[in-house]
Amino acid sequence: MDQQKYLTNQRNKEKILQGNNLEQERNKNLQENKAGRLKKIVVPLLQWYDNNARDLPWRENSEPYAVWISEIMLQQTRVEAVKPYYDRWLKAFPTLSALAAAPEEEVLKLWEGLGYYSRARNIHKTAKIVEENYEGMLPSSFEALLKLPGVGEYSAGSIGSIAFQLPVPCVDGNVLRVITRITAEDADISEPSTKKLLTEWVRAIVPDARPGDFNQSLMELGASICLPNGLPKCESCPVSSLCEAFQQNKTTDFPVKKPKPQRKKEKRTVLLILLGDKAAVRKRKDSGLLASLWEYPNYPGELKEQEVIEKLQAKGLSPVTAIKLKKAKHIFTHIEWQLSGYLVTLDESLFSEKQVDWAEFSGGEDDFFWANSDLLHEHLTIPSAFKVYHQILLNTLQSAH
Ligand code: SF4
Repeated sequence: MDQQKYLTNQRNKEKILQGNNLEQERNKNLQENKAGRLKKIVVPLLQWYDNNARDLPWRENSEPYAVWISEIMLQQTRVEAVKPYYDRWLKAFPTLSALAAAPEEEVLKLWEGLGYYSRARNIHKTAKIVEENYEGMLPSSFEALLKLPGVGEYSAGSIGSIAFQLPVPCVDGNVLRVITRITAEDADISEPSTKKLLTEWVRAIVPDARPGDFNQSLMELGASICLPNGLPKCESCPVSSLCEAFQQNKTTDFPVKKPKPQRKKEKRTVLLILLGDKAAVRKRKDSGLLASLWEYPNYPGELKEQEVIEKLQAKGLSPVTAIKLKKAKHIFTHIEWQLSGYLVTLDESLFSEKQVDWAEFSGGEDDFFWANSDLLHEHLTIPSAFKVYHQILLNTLQSAH
């Protein structure tokens, strides 16, 4: 390479390098500006919260135990749905020690219908750990909270800041939405790196004086004013003058989030099988979807009446009638069940099976346990995926009484 060419190459490389450095510098300044803008929201947001916080049962009790229960219940669940569960829970288990001493079936029964049952199991496990290792008091450091079953960054942040006044962030979907709008941040919020960056921004502004109230004020703003799906009530927002998206008339552009993959749809047929005043239930596998919960027998596909009869006859049962029931649907995070159902009556005179106590029943998919309505009401946890059929069954057992 001659001298001239060499020098030209070198100059080009330097230009590219300078360009990259400038770009990095610009990005850094932009990020610092956004983080700086956020600092100004603390005071108006707290003032707004003082005057507008909703009256919620868990806000009347800042005991760490009550805060923890409410925060776990509120994960992926609407406030209105949680209220009755929270009240019932604290009546049944007024202290962490009472919870730790309860059998798991009782804990799950109280959770029945709230979904994501691993939360209830983790609460129960945590209660036992805390009883054994922390003299029945939830630990008050962020790091120790994070080690408890079912407590992630978000829950450790909310419990830590609300119950123990730790100046730590808690960033949920509501908070991500609010922060990206205020800062007009267009990074994809489904990316962990974006969540990490925004969490650091919030960490930098959580005040030492009222960390729990501040975190709640951000969540409250997201839940009641800075609403999702392009419908924020900016005219009532206490930080609209600081909000970049509002100032640029671009509130519908934020947050940026890549679309979720389509849920898989699965048809299943649920059978309510009656044997006198009892109905067939079975226990699910101890891992995977709805692990270890009770359910009504159900099978893949949309079965025809004759297929139902043959299926039960193949199990040695004697169906007399099979009445088609209404259809139902249940949506899980990744899957949608499209359910059809039958109410099947068996000939009691041809039945001779003896059964163990329900608490000892550990049968698999092919084993049925015959439960009466008292047992179904008081002890067995039937997930809400079966809600429609559960209600039909309880009504049928009651009217036959
Ligand atoms: S001004 Fe509108 S978009 Fe901005 S934070 Fe308030 S409600 Fe959300």
